[in-house]
Amino acid sequence: MQTRILQIDEQSLETSKQLILTGSPVAFPTETVYGLGANAFDTEAVERIFEIKGRPSDNPLIVHVHKDYDIGSLVSYIPEYAEKLAVEFLPGPLTMVYKSRNKVSPAVSCGLDTLAVRVPSHEGAQRFLKYVSLPIAAPSANLSKHVSPVTAEHVYADLNGKIEVILDGGKCCGGIESTVLDCTGEIPVVLRSGLITREMIAATVGDCAEYAFKEGETARSPGMKYKHYSPNCQTEMYAFEERDKAVGLYKEKNSQGVNAFIMCDESTAKLINVEKTLILGKTEREVAANLYYKLREGEKKAQLIIAIAPQKQDGIMAGVMNRLAKACKKV
Ligand code: AMP
Ligand code: MG
Repeated sequence: MQTRILQIDEQSLETSKQLILTGSPVAFPTETVYGLGANAFDTEAVERIFEIKGRPSDNPLIVHVHKDYDIGSLVSYIPEYAEKLAVEFLPGPLTMVYKSRNKVSPAVSCGLDTLAVRVPSHEGAQRFLKYVSLPIAAPSANLSKHVSPVTAEHVYADLNGKIEVILDGGKCCGGIESTVLDCTGEIPVVLRSGLITREMIAATVGDCAEYAFKEGETARSPGMKYKHYSPNCQTEMYAFEERDKAVGLYKEKNSQGVNAFIMCDESTAKLINVEKTLILGKTEREVAANLYYKLREGEKKAQLIIAIAPQKQDGIMAGVMNRLAKACKKV
């Protein structure tokens, strides 16, 4: 199979719809990262996603719906705070976990009694969801454990020959996966941080907790326990305060003939002043938007990426730090 990258128009949407209706997953853009989507009612199609990605069978998928879709038909209870959050943040990079009505295939939630639902704001995603007129179960459109894709070319690099079509919606503007929020309890709980921050949620509904996964315990969001987002090269991470050590390693490695690059934000790059850098950007939004893009660029150029963590680690940077730490985690 030769995978085709198609611009989003009437013809490519019709092609995608036919593929979805016949059980073949299609990659599509969102404002966070590219998704690999299948009809959430079709168990075989959902299982194909796990196969294509090599995704562990206990890591559930998020169901993506059009902004006018009746989410109440898929989930049994939507608390008042979730309704407020939906008004404030949807469509957008916020996934909400509810008690499921068990209408979609059980393969979507890997047997859990909850369902994660997301309404993406990307125009191409909305057009695709409207055209197929089905809830679409989708994880990120990369091989499992690799860096998430933020361009159609990234999807192609991982999945060429494994899927028919990639709908091309340009570079994703968000750059890290959606915030995952547990909406089954008294107050919302952040299971995975993202661009909609805990602070933003608390400001809207008064209270918001953060779930911290501890090794050895059953994960509330199963994806948390896996190594993720890793580039195909060596990685090291240093705290902002340890940047001199990072520069020391950079110099040592390059003098030994190891092609090492430093990854950091723009202000840190000015402080350390080295030649080979992967600069994430100036603002927090830029840093988030470029993180995966630069990790993928880095794995092509470098034998070793030495990341210097951002100095500030709350808000959006909490999400960036979480991904960067996982990308650099040694297993
Ligand atoms: P991905 O689409 O690859 O970014 O992964 C989706 C994320 O959502 C993973 O971290 C999953 O564990 C999480 N997720 C999906 N469904 C649920 C659910 N029902 N309950 C808790 N977390 C979920
Ligand atoms: Mg993923």
